[in-house]
Amino acid sequence: MERLWAPWRQNFVAAGPVPDGDCFLCRGLAVHADRENLIVWRGDRSCVALNKYPYNNGHLLVAPLAHRGTLDDLDDAQLLDLQQVIRRAIGILRDKMNPDGFNVGLNLGRPAGAGLPGHLHWHIVPRWNGDTNFMPVIGDTKVISQSLESLYDLIVGEF
Ligand SMILES: [Zn+2]
Repeated sequence: MERLWAPWRQNFVAAGPVPDGDCFLCRGLAVHADRENLIVWRGDRSCVALNKYPYNNGHLLVAPLAHRGTLDDLDDAQLLDLQQVIRRAIGILRDKMNPDGFNVGLNLGRPAGAGLPGHLHWHIVPRWNGDTNFMPVIGDTKVISQSLESLYDLIVGEF
């Protein structure tokens, strides 16, 4: 499998694990500054946020509103709602960004790569043919043609 090169995530990685009491999702959901906190949508049970340290253009996070760390902590209604929001988010990204594919997944626990293990969040990463090409390797930086702000504006009204 080819690796997606995302060197701008270095600041996130270098900052080390997020302390258990410090949940950026709950912090963002507790106030009404959604743009500042990159929250693009919130429903009755779930929310959608931009990943501040994206693996690719359009990288979204879908999470329950409630701070829940395992699938067993979700009831059936929450679980179904999350899957429906994931489907909706994929549809919006497909319409707005025309990717060739998606990586969709959940990292459970720190050893699996969860940067915020206390609050479940599904990653949705749009993929384009050739997005693992040589450019990032030789340039040590990847061409991200879309800033987080313009991505926010692109999808904020779509949910
Ligand atoms: Zn939380």
